[in-house]
Amino acid sequence: TKVLVAGGSGFIGAHILEQLLAKGHSVVTTVRSKEKAQKILDAHKAEADRLEVAIVPEIAREDAFDEVVKTPGIEVVIHPASPCHLNFTDPQKELIDPAVLGTTNILRAIKRDAPQVRRVIITSSVAAIFNTKDPVSTLTEQSWNPNDLSNIHDSRAVAYCVSKTLAERAAWDYVDQEKPNFDLVTVNPPLVLGPVVGHFSNVDSINASNECLANLVRGKWRDEIPPTGPVNIWIDVRDVAAAHVRAMERQEAGGKRLFTVGGRFSYTKIAEIVREHGPDRFKDKMPRAEARSGDANYTGPVLKFDNGETNRILGIEWTPLEKSVLDFVESIKEFDL
Ligand code: NDP
Repeated sequence: TKVLVAGGSGFIGAHILEQLLAKGHSVVTTVRSKEKAQKILDAHKAEADRLEVAIVPEIAREDAFDEVVKTPGIEVVIHPASPCHLNFTDPQKELIDPAVLGTTNILRAIKRDAPQVRRVIITSSVAAIFNTKDPVSTLTEQSWNPNDLSNIHDSRAVAYCVSKTLAERAAWDYVDQEKPNFDLVTVNPPLVLGPVVGHFSNVDSINASNECLANLVRGKWRDEIPPTGPVNIWIDVRDVAAAHVRAMERQEAGGKRLFTVGGRFSYTKIAEIVREHGPDRFKDKMPRAEARSGDANYTGPVLKFDNGETNRILGIEWTPLEKSVLDFVESIKEFDL
């Protein structure tokens, strides 16, 4: 199958690209710079005949995807490109626009110029599922975050959640109204942990979701382990990538939201894993025996979920927390943190 992956240099996007190539598929991917394009091409000399890289510097531009979708033979499009950090000054311009317009731009371009595409898979998030108005309700594939544009100044985290919610809604609305030739799948993961793909691995590649692990090995939890809070679900990055690949392979995934959850975590558990099994280099950075744990006195609600439908469709055996955490820590142990 020939697959367009928008954003093949991102944390999740790079794993999707790796898995597609490993399974023998052909990939057209977009990145924002020549440097990133070159890194991908250099790492895949052996698969050069199945790999094309196009430069798309800004997905919010209306014509962002107009050329790349014309690459002959694309059958499936996977769209993980979207801002995934909280370092913004203007939430509308830096988060909402690339998330929402990036999504509608790619869908419009496919409908217009790539009518042979049979399926589009968009990386959404638990952020679009979480019910902020009723945090103790059980989350399922049918749940929706009720926040909208009026909430984008509530907090940085809420602004990010709104960007994911509006982007996903825009995608389902587009398919509903425009009735294109393709069907839609969304993959909605919670916190994604795990190693960065080798050729992108450097100290700046520690993305927002692995930042908590980076802080642990920087010694920032020596005196106090942060509270995990109510949203204590996570997934390994390789499993998220595998979910996108299966979403493309399994007919019954069409029209579904895949709420991919690897399990529950706590920052206290993560600290224990690294303290007991992590590389020697980080031993003196670990929380001290008398460190306070933000989880110790937590009596508030924790998120409830039922994602049985997703598990049935995907049939993936989720990577355990210990492996994910240790693989990430191992992958950064040479860096000057
Ligand atoms: P990354 O930041 O590593 O990847 C985001 C990708 O999108 C990068 O390739 C980035 O390019 C690209 N991108 C962002 N903004 C723009 C823009 N304006 N124009 C062009 N390209 C852009 O994060 P992840 O891989 O973790 O995130 C991928 C997807 O997964 C996102 O949709 C995110 O919301 C979702 N997700 C992530 C979770 C997590 O915990 N990591 C949890 C749930 C969902 P560049 O790096 O060059 O800027």
